[in-house]
Amino acid sequence: KPRVYNFGDKKADGNREMKNLLGGKGANLAEMSSIGIPVPPGFTITTEVCTEYNQLGEEVAMGFIRDEIEAAIANIESIMGTKFGDKENPLLISVRSGARVSMPGMMDTVLNLGLNDDAVLGIAKQTNNERFAWDSYRRFIQMYGGVVLGMKPESKEDIDPFEEIMEALKHKRNIELDTEFTIQDLKDLVYDFKEAVKKRTGKNFPSNPWDQLTGAIIAVFNSWNGDRAVYYRKMHGYPSDWGTAVNVQAMVYGNMGSDSGTGVCFTRDAATGENTFNGEYLIDAQGEDVVAGVRTPQQITKTGSQRWAELAQVEEDDRIKYYPSLEELMPEIFKELNQYQEILEKHYRDMQDMEFTIQQGKLWILQTRNGKRTGAAMVKIAMDLLKERMINEKEALLLIEPNKLDELLHPVFDPKALKKAHAIAQGLPASPGAATGKIVFFADEADKYKSSILVRIETSPEDLEGMNIARGILTARGGMTSHAAVVARGMGKCCVSGAGALRIDYKTRTLTVDGHKYQEGDWISLNGSTGNIFEGKVATMEPELSGEFAEIMDLAQKFTKMQVRTNADTPKDAKVARNFGAQGIGLTRTEHMFFEVDRIKAMREMILADTVKGRKEALKELLPMQRSDFEGIFEAMEGLPVTIRLLDPPLHEFVPHQLETQRALAEDMHITLQEVKNKVAELEEFNPMLGHRGCRLGITYPEITEMQARAIIEAALNLKEKGIEAKPEIMIPLIGTMAEFESQEAVIRATANQVFEERNDSIEYLVGTMMEIPRATLMADLIAEKADFFSFGTNDLTQMTFGYSRDDASKFLPIYLEKGILKDDPFEVLDQEGVGQLVKIGTERGRSVKTNLKVGICGEHGGEPSSVEFCYNTGMNYVSCSPFRVPIARVAAAQAAI
Ligand code: PEP
Ligand code: MG
Repeated sequence: KPRVYNFGDKKADGNREMKNLLGGKGANLAEMSSIGIPVPPGFTITTEVCTEYNQLGEEVAMGFIRDEIEAAIANIESIMGTKFGDKENPLLISVRSGARVSMPGMMDTVLNLGLNDDAVLGIAKQTNNERFAWDSYRRFIQMYGGVVLGMKPESKEDIDPFEEIMEALKHKRNIELDTEFTIQDLKDLVYDFKEAVKKRTGKNFPSNPWDQLTGAIIAVFNSWNGDRAVYYRKMHGYPSDWGTAVNVQAMVYGNMGSDSGTGVCFTRDAATGENTFNGEYLIDAQGEDVVAGVRTPQQITKTGSQRWAELAQVEEDDRIKYYPSLEELMPEIFKELNQYQEILEKHYRDMQDMEFTIQQGKLWILQTRNGKRTGAAMVKIAMDLLKERMINEKEALLLIEPNKLDELLHPVFDPKALKKAHAIAQGLPASPGAATGKIVFFADEADKYKSSILVRIETSPEDLEGMNIARGILTARGGMTSHAAVVARGMGKCCVSGAGALRIDYKTRTLTVDGHKYQEGDWISLNGSTGNIFEGKVATMEPELSGEFAEIMDLAQKFTKMQVRTNADTPKDAKVARNFGAQGIGLTRTEHMFFEVDRIKAMREMILADTVKGRKEALKELLPMQRSDFEGIFEAMEGLPVTIRLLDPPLHEFVPHQLETQRALAEDMHITLQEVKNKVAELEEFNPMLGHRGCRLGITYPEITEMQARAIIEAALNLKEKGIEAKPEIMIPLIGTMAEFESQEAVIRATANQVFEERNDSIEYLVGTMMEIPRATLMADLIAEKADFFSFGTNDLTQMTFGYSRDDASKFLPIYLEKGILKDDPFEVLDQEGVGQLVKIGTERGRSVKTNLKVGICGEHGGEPSSVEFCYNTGMNYVSCSPFRVPIARVAAAQAAI
């Protein structure tokens, strides 16, 4: 089996199906080459070699591929008519990483590899451009030094060691721009760079191209386990054993003069989803220049350029001068590019994000991939592609990444507040949404405030974690395809980029606009949909869910086979969830109702009461409150089933732990402070989560169960009188034995019968149980004889199966994830392997005695897409999740059924 796959000259060894082996980039390069797109020739080293490298070490892994690499380089040489390391006509190559999914900015790239003191002369002769040759050489040493030899800035206030040398030379020569360097300056820089390498690493800069190549390949392999990559994987839940491929490709140059250039383009708008070809380019520049945001790029299309000119208030007459579009500047190249973008989108049947380079009038396509997009764009593009008949309904649904829908459910600026808001500057609408927060200037300080806005001149991959924490991102430099913009869109985070009017000073931690100074900690607000930047805190409001979002939800409804309910404790939550399409309530946690000020008092009196009589008196006060809560919830759900769970948490959570409140309670109850203190001490537990909670409360204090059952049944009867149907499903928490269930069921049924008698009326109701203790899942066949339904409480089930305390796991879980001991946080993503077995066993055993047993899930996992899929495969009737996750679960459930 080959370890190296060639592509180029309209041929390729691989194809797009081979993403796991060749990485996304490698598979796409092969595919593009074979459908006739002009990609620079090259080869891909498989992800398996990365794994071999990690397991067997450098010697062995490199030994495996040595011959294949030599042959592959020879192949490129023959296509390009150049020679690796040649003095006359050298081949220069790029070395890039490429995992099976795109990880923007995560992995390192080396360009211009193959340059040395000989090859630089060849390039100079070949291009007839000595300046270009030496500039490429110094860029190469800089990049290779940083990426392969580890010569990065030492702290965040430091600058790149190579930049430092350049700055010193600029100072000495009294110049400002890189372009002002003379050829001799560039030669001096190369010399100084090499000296710096020697000083810092103790070794000479490698001059043999084959050594350079080996070093770069190893660096790519190593970058797979670099901090950034590990963080990104963790954030997205990608396993570490995937490995990365290495793509080696002939260099083509966008910086060979005014007939050269480079750019990035999207077949549709990645922010809004609109079907307009768009992108950015720079004349006489290398690819990194566009993405790094050092120079602000120009728009590819004329309409794009017009939009920019308008934002900058530049007259149409001056537009071409300040904002020349590729369409106008190089119409032939634009035509060709436009053709390829159409071919590629049709071929891949999804929005494409492409990179291209124009080398002395010849267009090369460097890369295409399914473009990252905002949640809004994702929904629009899926529906548009469907309407354009490029894809079918199922494919449209599968284009939805359920978690990204979340972005659409979040606030936008309140138009009224927006009218009054004071706009201080305008940037590019890089990633939509509304964000408001306090200014921070460094990514690692994003958590300094509860809501922060990360303000940077430009961002780099090191800033990823902070970008994720911040509410929004604002940059002074960089276009719509700058690092900040691309990453923000991927995260669905509001971002305004390229706000040129901002003067950012990291040293004094200030932001100056139009002479007005803002300090770290000052509030600002960003509108990522328009690029507006406002002073202060602008009020936000809930978004409207219509149009394509509603269409996607309809599609989900069409294909789904499993219901989605919601976890809701109040009529308000229930209504929100109904709007999102919830088909019932899977869990009402009644305890949450007791925490309100006027109720907690009655609750505390109940807990502190020493006699059954005293408890009953306190419960009598609580009864009408509970009843009216339930009425509200039943009413909001309009006849849909509502699962109400009996009191679950340990009682100590309700009693006061502070002296002040203890004193007040003692006064209220006409008892001594000491008596209150004694009671509180009595309720203290070593392991409250495994202590006196759940059905254990109802069994020790049946009058609580009685009161709750009465409140539920009376509420349902009251609604019936009003002509509203209510379908209560009463749920007993935390049972582990059959007898526990029977004991509580008896109380509930007796109470219900008594209420029916009193009212001379009745309703239908169910009595079921949580499945959240491992023993219960094992005894499910016995329990199902009596229980009307099961609802898996995977929060507790995970806690008890792993033996990880829900309340304490945050102390060690992050370390477990970091060390790869766990792939995911099991409280977030259901552990299908382990906990999942108990879910399966419980379901199967339950249904073995009651074929139609209603089974659902109400733990946090009910709204997590991979867990939803598992629930579907297990045969559950429904999943239940928090209101804002309902749309996510609905799409995930539909996808599972496709
Ligand atoms: C559960 O344990 O999964 C559950 C839903 O109940 P709670 O989170 O209230 O313990
Ligand atoms: Mg529980």
